[in-house]
Amino acid sequence: MSEPPQLLLDHHLKKLKLPTFLAEYDKQARQCAAENVDHVRYLLRLSELELIERERRMIERRIKAAKFPATKSLDSFDFKALPSLNKALVMELARCQYIGYQQNIIALGPSGTGKTHIALGLGLAACQKGLKVRFITAAALVHELLEAADEKRLLRQQKQLISQDLLIIDELGYVPLSKTGAELLFEIFSQRYERGSILVTSNLPFDEWTEVFGSERLTGALLDRLTHYVHILEMNGESYRLNQSRQRQKQSYKNNKR
Ligand code: ADP
Ligand code: MG
Repeated sequence: MSEPPQLLLDHHLKKLKLPTFLAEYDKQARQCAAENVDHVRYLLRLSELELIERERRMIERRIKAAKFPATKSLDSFDFKALPSLNKALVMELARCQYIGYQQNIIALGPSGTGKTHIALGLGLAACQKGLKVRFITAAALVHELLEAADEKRLLRQQKQLISQDLLIIDELGYVPLSKTGAELLFEIFSQRYERGSILVTSNLPFDEWTEVFGSERLTGALLDRLTHYVHILEMNGESYRLNQSRQRQKQSYKNNKR
């Protein structure tokens, strides 16, 4: 006894990993019949739907793998609140060409000026281009590397970090690093040099980085590599958080007086 063709088709489409074809072929067939669309255009529609869906899933996977602490996009960033930041440069960077050239980005400025927000926005833009991104704070990165070294899987961990198209290291400078920690972090910068992009955010100007890394020689070598091809985002301004809470206070003061 032979299987009904529809059962076989469903089975084959599953095997071929064409879930959208499978889900849509019936509905699209009816639509195409109603619209008098020929079989080539019918197949074209189905393959287009499959491609769109495949890309959507791939981007979703990239975003998940990036381990962003929050989803923030550049659309929700108020550039007017931070005149020191070059908006045109940020929008150009969102096109992600710098990643193709293995160039780096450093966002510098005091706390609350939106450095993490910009880093998240640029990270998301890279994921949407299908690029491999990893977001991590400097402290967590050093912790991961130390732990990997302890468990004799440092090489695998380093490989994984080097294989990203964009590595985002947030909050460099908030915590001073141990000697081993600084050396492990340096190694990552060194291994990624001219092989992949790094985006660093820091509250410290370059001349204070020595305090974080403990060694002038190491800091010099690191800055040398990091800044060879670099876009600097100057984010000097008032804390956005502080400004907002001040405004809220003013507003409630006005309301109370009424
Ligand atoms: P930083 O990393 O420089 O300390 P964050 O990026 O964490 O600052 O910003 C603090 C908070 O304020 C976040 O919730 C962020 O989304 C918001 N924020 C900061 N600057 C802006 C801005 N210009 N437009 C919109 N939101 C902003
Ligand atoms: Mg931050």
